[in-house]
Amino acid sequence: SAKEKGRNNYHFFDPTLDENLQQRRQQITELARAIREDEFELHYQPQIQLRDSAVIGVEALVRWQHPDKGLLAPGQFLPYIEGSHLEERFGQWVLRHALAQQAEWSKAGLPLGMSINISAAHLLAPGFSRFLGRYLRDHPGLDPALITLEILESTALDDMQRASQVIHECRDLGVQIALDDFGTGFSSLSYFRSLPVDVIKIDKSFTLRMLEDDSDRAIVESVIYMAQRFNRTVLAEGVETDRHGEVLATLGCDQIQGFGVARPMPAEKTAQWVRQWQARNPLTVPAFVQGS
Ligand code: C2E
Ligand code: MG
Ligand code: MG
Ligand code: MG
Repeated sequence: SAKEKGRNNYHFFDPTLDENLQQRRQQITELARAIREDEFELHYQPQIQLRDSAVIGVEALVRWQHPDKGLLAPGQFLPYIEGSHLEERFGQWVLRHALAQQAEWSKAGLPLGMSINISAAHLLAPGFSRFLGRYLRDHPGLDPALITLEILESTALDDMQRASQVIHECRDLGVQIALDDFGTGFSSLSYFRSLPVDVIKIDKSFTLRMLEDDSDRAIVESVIYMAQRFNRTVLAEGVETDRHGEVLATLGCDQIQGFGVARPMPAEKTAQWVRQWQARNPLTVPAFVQGS
């Protein structure tokens, strides 16, 4: 019967492929479909300036609204996208949607900084800065100064010269560059000298452990010190509690981001949250934030 034939399709199985590779191919096919069917969405997590408790912006964090599995975090699907032929297309989807959201908020009287994660292959693909330049020209409502591209240390490590060149081109367009997950790579300190980045993001692993572990505390202190010496803005991720915020404020950290302030939220909720924060509802502002 047809049903039996359907079940006996083992002759399509290529014995030279191991199961992982098969699974990877299936995932990539499904992800290609998900891009076509617009199943991704962006959530946004606020970033706060410690000096005056201002919301400086939000980071766009992608989610996959999977038809059967529900909302998936990037850790569950980005590893399949990265290194596949989908990487650039996916990156463009994120970039366009984040910028469109930012333009919409600006138009509604809520101009917010927008930090966008850019993968290595996307940043280093030919035409990245040209595309961004064209997009900014076509959307005069966007203020480039409010856009930050977050790149990983490892991106720069792959091809330092090329990375440095693209970073220069993007900064010439007026956008800012942040170095994400700072401290997790191998040559972090030399980047202060060689890469023209505006913002250093201390990886959350250091922030999360700094209250218990002296070494992590020392790393956080050193990165803040180096950032100040090199005139860079420093943001700490992973601020889960008031205590994390208090310590970072004492150490002179500029900006914070973390569950202790707000979790990533869908767009509508984000706008509500920002308006509420700006109205300084005392219940929503953690005690460690100065001026609250
Ligand atoms: P990331 O850019 O370092 O983003 C921060 C991650 O830490 C986010 O995880 C965020 O939800 C989480 N986080 C924020 N505050 C806290 C906290 O207080 N405690 C803890 N434990 N975690 C916190 P998420 O959304 O799962 O994203 C994971 C990573 O996936 C991101 O790390 C980024 O590298 C990548 N990613 C996310 N969205 C995109 C995207 O649109 N494009 C690209 N290329 N990568 C993305
Ligand atoms: Mg990031
Ligand atoms: Mg990070
Ligand atoms: Mg990370």
